[in-house]
Amino acid sequence: MLEWKDGQPFSSRFGDVYFSTESGLEETRHVFLQGNELTRRFAVLHDGDSFCIGETGFGTGLNFLCAWQLFEQTAPPGASLDFFSTERFPIDDEDLRAALALWPALAAQAEALLASWKRRVPGWNRWHFADGRVRMTLAMEDVAQALPQLQPASVDAWFLDGFAPARNPEMWNEAVLAAVARASHEGTTLATYTSTGWVRRSLQAAGFEVKRVPGYGRKWEMTCGQFFAHSPASGRRVMPRSALVVGGGLAGCAVANALAQRGIQVTLIESAAQLASAASGNPRGILHARFGAGMNTLHRFVLAAYGHALALLDAVLPVDGVHRAECGLLQLAATDSEAKRIGKLATQEWPPHLLQVVDAEHASALAGLTMSHGGMWFPAGGWVVPTEVCARLAQHPNITLRLNSEVTTLERTANGWRARGEGFAIEAQQAVVCSAHQAKQLAQFAALPLQPVRGQISVLPATAASGMLKAVLCAEGYCAPALDGEHVAGATSAFDDDARDVRAADHAENIARLSAHMPALYQALGGAMPLSGRAGVRCSVPGAMPLVGEVEPGLYCSLAHGTRGLLTAGLAAEIIAAQMCGTVPPLPQDLLDVLAPLPRMRRQG
Ligand code: SAM
Repeated sequence: MLEWKDGQPFSSRFGDVYFSTESGLEETRHVFLQGNELTRRFAVLHDGDSFCIGETGFGTGLNFLCAWQLFEQTAPPGASLDFFSTERFPIDDEDLRAALALWPALAAQAEALLASWKRRVPGWNRWHFADGRVRMTLAMEDVAQALPQLQPASVDAWFLDGFAPARNPEMWNEAVLAAVARASHEGTTLATYTSTGWVRRSLQAAGFEVKRVPGYGRKWEMTCGQFFAHSPASGRRVMPRSALVVGGGLAGCAVANALAQRGIQVTLIESAAQLASAASGNPRGILHARFGAGMNTLHRFVLAAYGHALALLDAVLPVDGVHRAECGLLQLAATDSEAKRIGKLATQEWPPHLLQVVDAEHASALAGLTMSHGGMWFPAGGWVVPTEVCARLAQHPNITLRLNSEVTTLERTANGWRARGEGFAIEAQQAVVCSAHQAKQLAQFAALPLQPVRGQISVLPATAASGMLKAVLCAEGYCAPALDGEHVAGATSAFDDDARDVRAADHAENIARLSAHMPALYQALGGAMPLSGRAGVRCSVPGAMPLVGEVEPGLYCSLAHGTRGLLTAGLAAEIIAAQMCGTVPPLPQDLLDVLAPLPRMRRQG
C-alpha cells in the first residue's frame, strides 16, 4: 500500500520509499539516465531508429517521465522510444497524481501519463505518448511473469528499480536477472541505485560486466553494467519505408494508422466506395469487454484490447457525445449462464475503475431504468460511431487512400509486394491483409477457416420513458441509450450466412431479447416498430481468436475479429507494427503465439 510520509510516497508493504527523499528527480537522472549514458546514446540515433529501455518496477513512473523528457530533448525527431516496465502493485489515480505533482518540470508528461493511467487493465498495457514517438508497454503483473515474455535481445538499456533488495528480493532474484540477460544483447547496459554485493554477483553470473560508481546524494555507490553476449547483437532494427494495407474497415484503418504513425508511407486499399462499408459500418457500436473468471487466452486478449481501445480512442476520437459516449455499460446477470459467469468474476478482485459488481438496485440507479437483475458495471464502457473511428484513423498525412479498388492478387516482387486488381497495381515493401472473409479470394489466405457471421442491428424510436436510459445495457443482446431520438439494439448472429438484407425476423429477435432481459426498457419503448436496421457480415474463426501476425516474410494479416473489432482492431495493429519494425510487441509472447496465423494455416493446409 502507498502511504505518504513527510510528503513523499512510501510503500508500507515493502517498508521503503519510491524514490530518494532528497531529490527523486536528480537521483533518477544520475542513476538511471547517466548510468546508462542515455544523453549520448539518444543523440546518436538516426531518424527511423528505435531505442528500447526495460525497467523492473514502474512505481510512480518518475523514471519513465525523465527518460521520455530526455529523449524528446536529445533524440532526432524521426527516432522513437520503447519503454517496457512491470508493476505488480499499481498505485491508484489520486496517489499517482499526488506523487507526480512533486515534479513541476515534468507536468506535461505527467498529465499525459495520468490520462492513460485511468485506462489501465491487469496484464499488458500499451500507450502512446508524444504523438506516438514514445511507446509504453506496461505489464501490470509480477516481474517474474512479465520479463520472460519479452523478445530475446530486444532491450538496449535497463533500469533495475525494485525496492531495496533485502526488502523486495523477488525483484532481484536469479530468475529475474536471467530474464533481464535473455532480453539483452551485446552492449546492452544496466544501471541501478543499489550496490548490494549479492545483486552485483548475480548480475555477473547472468552475463553482465558490472562496476561500482558513485551514487547520488548520500548514497556512496551504485551499480552500472554492460552485457557481454557470446553472439553479437541481433542487428539494427530496420523500419520499412512503405506498406500497403488491403481492407478499409476497422482492422485495416487501425493498421494503416499504426504504420503511418511510425513514419511508414501507407496505401490503404478498399474495394468499396467508402471506408467502413462492411461489418464496421453500423451506426453505433458498443465498447463491450466480455470475459470470464478463468481468464483463458481469449479473455486475456479481450481485456488487453479493451484497455488499449479506450486509450486509442482517447487519442483519435475523444468523448464528444455525438461520435463517442462514455456512458458506462452494464452486463446484466439476466440468464443462468451470465449469472454464473458474473458470480465467478465477483469472487475476484477488480480495480473499480475497470469493473464493479452491482446488485439490481445499484444497476437500476446506473441505468436510469429499473433493472430486474444486477450484474457487472464497466464505468468506461459506452458506444462509438465506428465509421467515424475509421475516418479519423485513416486521416494521416502518411496514408494514401485508394477506394473502389478490389485486390484480386497479391504477389511477391523483388522489393516487397504488389497488390493487383482491375486497372491497378500497387507496390510496397510490406503488405497487410485486413479484408475479413474476402481475404479468402487471395491465394495466400485461401486455406484459412474464415467464417462469415451475419449480424443485424435494429434502430428503435426512443420514447420519453426510454430516453431515461443512461448506460449501455447488455445481456444476450444490447441496447444503447438514445441519441437523436434513436436507440440501437442488437445484434443477431448467424454463422455461414453472408446475406446483408434486413429481415423482420431478425428485428423480432433483437426485440425479444430486450423484452426477456430488460423488461423495463422494453415497456418504456412502448412496442414501437424498428425505424430501420442494418445487417453486416463479420468474419470469425473457430475458437474466436483473431488471426494477427506475419504469414510470409513481409506479408501480414489482421483478420477474424468477429463481433469484437472495435476492441481488438487497434491492438492487432500494434502487434503488426511492432513485428514489422522489430520493436517491442504490445502483448506477451504466449498471446502472440495464439494469435499467430501461420500455425493455424499450416494445420488447415
Ligand atoms: N521506478 C519507480 C519510479 O520511477 O517511481 C520506482 C520503483 S519502486 C522503488 C519499485 C516498484 O516495484 C514498486 O512500485 C513495487 O510495487 C514494484 N514491485 C515490487 N515487487 C514487484 C514484483 N514482484 N513484480 C513487479 N513489480 C514489483
